[in-house]
Amino acid sequence: MRKYVIMGIQGSGKGTQAKLMAADFNLTHISVGDIFRWHVEQHTKIGAQVKRIMALGELVDDELVESIVRERLHGHDWNFGFVVDGFPRNIRQAEFFLESFDIDGVILLEMPDEMVAERVLARRICSNCGLDYNLLGNRPARPGICDACGGRLEPRADDTPEALAARLRDYHEKTQPIIELFERKEFVARIDATHSIEDVQADIRRRLRLPAAGDKTAEADTGRG
Ligand code: AMP
Repeated sequence: MRKYVIMGIQGSGKGTQAKLMAADFNLTHISVGDIFRWHVEQHTKIGAQVKRIMALGELVDDELVESIVRERLHGHDWNFGFVVDGFPRNIRQAEFFLESFDIDGVILLEMPDEMVAERVLARRICSNCGLDYNLLGNRPARPGICDACGGRLEPRADDTPEALAARLRDYHEKTQPIIELFERKEFVARIDATHSIEDVQADIRRRLRLPAAGDKTAEADTGRG
């Protein structure tokens, strides 16, 4: 059983890296942001509650976030473990999480703010199938059109310069302090997220002593110590 948290500023590649780990190690990928985006798309009551807050790049109320995480972690049959992405984002959420679950490691993706801004403003998502693109490195074959389904590519509603500024501010004020809390209690792997997707993934696996991509037979441990 492997239980990880992946942290990092928006645009540092948390979702991409978490998905790669989840696919290879059968981990359940729990992205609070994805869960909220689903609610917004499906026009649920939760979606109505969070839509404006998300578009402004602000943090959703802790109680709602905690109930979503609790439900997802208690309700799911995660036999091989999980990787939680985008949670916790402040001290209260971190304390709630540490009281309820023990984790094997925290992956911290580090990237300078200027690079985050460049990447985030170049992100596009398919309005039909949800596939991610980035106009800097991962462009579609035809501009504005999804390679997989032909859907229209759009920026995420919260990838505006104003929302990005709010998210950077919250990250430095509220999220960074919990890294110190984790460093006292858990194993934190600090990863340079400015490299390619493959290199970042390889570095994560090395630091957590997980088998490299394509080497699923190798012995792995949790990375503690
Ligand atoms: P993300 O995809 O992780 O960037 O999350 C998108 C948005 O969902 C954030 O800007 C917040 O509005 C909300 N959100 C996601 N995770 C959390 C969290 N742990 N606490 C509060 N709000 C969150």
